[in-house]
Amino acid sequence: MEISVKAPAKINLTLDVLHKRDDGYHELEMVMTSIDLADRIDLVSTSQPSVRLRSTSGFVPQDERNLAYRAAALLKENYDVKPGVFITIHKHIPVAAGLAGGSSDAAATLIGLNKLWNLGLTLDELVELGAQIGSDVPYCVHAGTALVRGRGERLMPISSPPACWVVLAKPEHGVSTAEVFQKFEQVSPDNSPDTKAMVAALEQGDFSGICASLGNVLEDVTLKSYPTVGRIKDKMKEFGAEGVLMSGSGPTVFGLVRQEARARRIVNGLRGFCRHVYMVRMLGQLDQNRTK
Ligand code: ATP
Repeated sequence: MEISVKAPAKINLTLDVLHKRDDGYHELEMVMTSIDLADRIDLVSTSQPSVRLRSTSGFVPQDERNLAYRAAALLKENYDVKPGVFITIHKHIPVAAGLAGGSSDAAATLIGLNKLWNLGLTLDELVELGAQIGSDVPYCVHAGTALVRGRGERLMPISSPPACWVVLAKPEHGVSTAEVFQKFEQVSPDNSPDTKAMVAALEQGDFSGICASLGNVLEDVTLKSYPTVGRIKDKMKEFGAEGVLMSGSGPTVFGLVRQEARARRIVNGLRGFCRHVYMVRMLGQLDQNRTK
């Protein structure tokens, strides 16, 4: 028995850190949306009880450190599943890029194995399991557009942005999320986004309002350590993107553009000095049954 699951990347339309909690974690408030840049996870149930994994990318761990592996191991342990699984990750989402590639692989593995092993878990139960793997996994189980709070485990579905193009550019280097949060604590920047304005703009389908409300409190921190991120932002704006922001802890920068011809011009302009450039659509609300 075999199943394939799509694992889409996310972008942050907003990212705010409200405060540091007594348990040491940060209290977050973020608006996230799925984009049509995705890994594919193939899952083959095996009579051997072990979890095995391979990835088409050399940049991700192929053992128990992989988040998709941890998702399978968690299900086996919690629900006493006897069969094993062979996981193949067809990697298309850049790694350590602020696009939640690893978290989305874990979420897709939870969704796929729930079906493959007939576990009958609800979406809410999968979200809860996801929170045990990583803070972006609950959102990735849900996907679509959501207001995300807490450590990432409190989700509220909200209206998706109107159809548009997303141009993504990623500098050569990756960024460690843990390091960015450490630096954030030292500088405590005051560039908090207006999350309420973003949610209102989404509800009204107001593209200009969405572009005007983009904001990420981690952006200045990453920009200081990696000036390339700032240069890419400037270029995106110069080439005509209507809204520009760094996603997550970076370093990927995205630009929102309504017209396809303009998006293509921005891609061509950026290719001159950035090797990893993508042009994709917003996914809007995602069909929860994303297995094949
Ligand atoms: P986020 O936006 O959730 O902070 P990210 O996009 O910045 O995540 P990932 O691509 O998820 O980062 O990778 C972060 C680290 O997780 C990598 O350095 C990698 O070693 C590890 N990792 C574990 N499993 C995976 C996976 N399936 N795909 C990618 N990275 C993985």
